Amino acid sequence: MNGIRRVAVYTGSAPGNDPGFAEAATDVGGRLAGAGIGLVYGGGHAGLMGVVSDAALAAGGEVFGVIPQALVDAELAHPGLTSLEVVPDMHVRKMRMAELADGFVALPGGPGTLEELFEAWTWLQLGFHRKPVALYDVDGFWMPLIAMLDGMVDAGFLAATFRDSLIVVRTPDDLLAAFDAWEPPTPKFARSR
Ligand code: AMP
Repeated sequence: MNGIRRVAVYTGSAPGNDPGFAEAATDVGGRLAGAGIGLVYGGGHAGLMGVVSDAALAAGGEVFGVIPQALVDAELAHPGLTSLEVVPDMHVRKMRMAELADGFVALPGGPGTLEELFEAWTWLQLGFHRKPVALYDVDGFWMPLIAMLDGMVDAGFLAATFRDSLIVVRTPDDLLAAFDAWEPPTPKFARSR
């Protein structure tokens, strides 16, 4: 599938209030494993991060965790992963996750999830990588963010082509199909010839 061997999932270190969030995390973890795609994530056992990793492991998938030393206790480093890399800090965590993954998807989460999503997506815009980046929407959770991005397009801060480069899906099958069909956009500062 379009060279996608491992997918990084960003999601909340809390479970959220809606049981639909955990159901979605379970669906995504299980479907990735079922497709033979490894899961890359933050390595913790807390919240939806724990749910998605447990689901992938239960379905026989490979799971690669990357966690900063300072969060090993706070985020309950998962003891049962295929591999757990304990790294010095957040910067190395994001770099390693980006190296390991062939695509990125954000499930519902908090500010940490947004931070990681936006780094992956803005780096695509700048041409630092060419991997797909997706939002996995559950019950409209990401719609206010989509509206914000549309407002940025209207205000002239974001090109419509980059707005459109952010994949939005609501099912695991649609996520895999979108990754399969992925064509990277021309980077923002590419020279025209
Ligand atoms: P949250 O969505 O706020 O629950 O956070 C989800 C995950 O993002 C947690 O594992 C946080 O440790 C992680 N996170 C928060 N900020 C950063 C950051 N600057 N770089 C990398 N990971 C982060």
